[in-house]
Amino acid sequence: MAGGAGFLGSHLCDALVARGDEVLAIDDLSTGRTANVAHLGDNPAFELVVGDVSTGVDVSGSVGAVAHLASPASPPAYLARPLETLAVGSEGTRHLLELAGRHGARFLLASTSEIYGDPAVHPQTEDYRGNVDPIGPRSVYDEAKRFAEALTSAHRRTLGTDTAIVRIFNTYGPRLSPGDGRVVSNFIVQALAGEPLTIYGDGSQTRSLCFVDDEIAGLLALLDSDLAGPVNIGNPDERTISEIAAVVLKVTGSASHVVHRPLPTDDPTRRCPDITLASERLGWSPRVDLVTGLEQTAAYFGALTADEGRAGG
Ligand code: UDP
Repeated sequence: MAGGAGFLGSHLCDALVARGDEVLAIDDLSTGRTANVAHLGDNPAFELVVGDVSTGVDVSGSVGAVAHLASPASPPAYLARPLETLAVGSEGTRHLLELAGRHGARFLLASTSEIYGDPAVHPQTEDYRGNVDPIGPRSVYDEAKRFAEALTSAHRRTLGTDTAIVRIFNTYGPRLSPGDGRVVSNFIVQALAGEPLTIYGDGSQTRSLCFVDDEIAGLLALLDSDLAGPVNIGNPDERTISEIAAVVLKVTGSASHVVHRPLPTDDPTRRCPDITLASERLGWSPRVDLVTGLEQTAAYFGALTADEGRAGG
């Protein structure tokens, strides 16, 4: 699995190992963290190799499936690594598709709702082609993923590779990196520290947040199916960013205020998945509501802060 030490990758490793699969995780640790898979360290069914799939990948032994979850995923993370993000979406995808092809393995591409850009169709169905600025700052991520989808589809058509594309909508939960700049991690870290919650713009833009356990269940269902996709996997519970801030304040019991900061360039104004395809073809739908998911995520960040306090003290 490429990106196996990342937020989503590490949860997918857990799920695969738990059901008896052997997992080789490859991660360059640019945004992934060894701490995310430290608990799997002694498990003979798991191995972490530090490496960059953009420069090549070789695996000996048999390979049943190849999952490509390697990429910076939060806007500040990919904007800080524009060339690396384009490389892992293009060359990284090519190397992993070739690996799957050599082994006759199923290939799963982690694509994204960002390929819809600032959507003119709402909620977003898989046949919507998107509204992306090809040269704007976010294009390093959006176009890398769009190219990855194109390459994956071409391999399927011309070489018969068994491929699947999942379009992942905003996902949150334990193991989000506290400093990666995403809305949920920022708000919870700020709320727990008693600092103001930073709402970008007027807070009327929307996102639909999916708890990580639900997202992973969707990825596994797709991996185990013969569906090519693309398939949206996300939670259609659409909220404004201001509403999300209010729920975070309630869940954490924080007395923090909110402050407004400039809206990033090309920040999508709304986003919500249409999950008809996933529910009809995979029998998948999300189960964890926002309050429950945020409580679990806040507990994770609270424990991290306590650990840091102990280490520092
Ligand atoms: N956002 C915000 N405050 C923050 C971080 C993000 O208001 O501290 C907003 C951001 O402008 C966007 C939404 O929250 O409208 C989701 O941002 P995130 O970076 O989590 O993911 P995106 O969906 O933009 O990739």
